[in-house]
Amino acid sequence: MKYGGSSVATAEKINEVADRIIKKREQYKNIVTVVSAMGKKTNELLALSSEISLNPNRREMDVLLATGEQVTIALLSMALNEKGHKAISLTGWQAGFRTFGHHMRSKVQSVESELIERYLDEGYIVVVAGFQGVNSARDITTLGRGGSDTSAVAIAASLEYPCEIYTDVEGIYTVDPRVYKNAKKLDYLSYEETLEMASLGAKVIEPRSVELAWKYNVPLYIALNTNEVKGTYIVKEGKIMEKKNITNLSIMDNILLVNIELSTNSPEEINDLFVRLGNENVIIDIISQNKFARDKYLVSFTTTSDNKEIVSSVLKEKGLNFNYIENVSKVSIIGNAMRTQAGVASRAFEILAQNNVELHQVSTSEISISYVIDDENVKKVVEVFVEEFNL
Ligand code: ADP
Ligand code: ASP
Ligand code: MG
Repeated sequence: MKYGGSSVATAEKINEVADRIIKKREQYKNIVTVVSAMGKKTNELLALSSEISLNPNRREMDVLLATGEQVTIALLSMALNEKGHKAISLTGWQAGFRTFGHHMRSKVQSVESELIERYLDEGYIVVVAGFQGVNSARDITTLGRGGSDTSAVAIAASLEYPCEIYTDVEGIYTVDPRVYKNAKKLDYLSYEETLEMASLGAKVIEPRSVELAWKYNVPLYIALNTNEVKGTYIVKEGKIMEKKNITNLSIMDNILLVNIELSTNSPEEINDLFVRLGNENVIIDIISQNKFARDKYLVSFTTTSDNKEIVSSVLKEKGLNFNYIENVSKVSIIGNAMRTQAGVASRAFEILAQNNVELHQVSTSEISISYVIDDENVKKVVEVFVEEFNL
């Protein structure tokens, strides 16, 4: 079971989570619970660090950020003890999370789960800190924002258990229910569509956790933290009997669209640009490249708007001509049926044209179409897509 930040935001909520774990024990002998930092703690720690440094050492950031989850595991174990149950808290490194890659977005290499298993055998409820691990240099690492979902799935994969993710909504909806209140809850969704929607901005579940669950066949269930209503089961595609063409709409906000004018389309030049951005930890999303006049090429890409300063300095350093488009969002429609059915894209384009929506960029995958549009058009586009595709 995994409980996210909002589910453990106060001592009272931690007590409620403890009650639910105890109840779950009537059904399952062995339970491992993964928890996030309380409420908005991770954001508070990030803000605190920025009072000290605007460019803090990333290793030290991980030492700082990992403290959030450590508070929750101790309190939850105490709550379980207080209610008469044997429980033990484990940090990510105690629980066996070995990681690799960059600080603040490390990847899970393995979960060496002997200690978890030993405590389970001794009858303990094991409470593990999400989002954290240790790398080969024995540095504390974190897994990137929302990473507790990945921690939970990694433990489930390692123990061959099912994984239940409890959060502040009743499951996965056709659209973020906080953005569109008539969105419908889905009983089932395929791993592939869930991965696509999560990667395209629906933060209800972290994409890497879905990837991991899919790879290791971990049964995944997403539900409201009170467990009083039925949530969403993530299953293999073939198990879903009846479904719509388009299953989901995801929105990613805070996007920065960068347009760069180049006088050459030499692969080395373009490569150098993206290598430099990569070295600065700038994650690039959609890239497009066009020739628009003789010896004039336009390279455009999107990233998150918090990268504006760093992108600016890299482009200036290279002496490039560029401009930005800000206050844009990416709206994506997702559905496995797109692979086999023609006409979805043309319907979507037609609706956008009828509504005079300016498209800054469009990208597609086998099962999705994404449009970068002005923030002010998002509400309208969500409404027309919901209606057209019956979401
Ligand atoms: P947690 O703290 O439990 O990890 P998150 O805040 O990371 O929770 O994720 C839950 C949030 O995801 C919801 O409050 C909801 O606003 C958002 N969300 C975005 N898209 C969807 C969707 N399609 N279905 C359900 N929730 C969504
Ligand atoms: N506490 C971390 C975050 O806020 C990890 C998580 O909640 O999954 O990103
Ligand atoms: Mg989350």
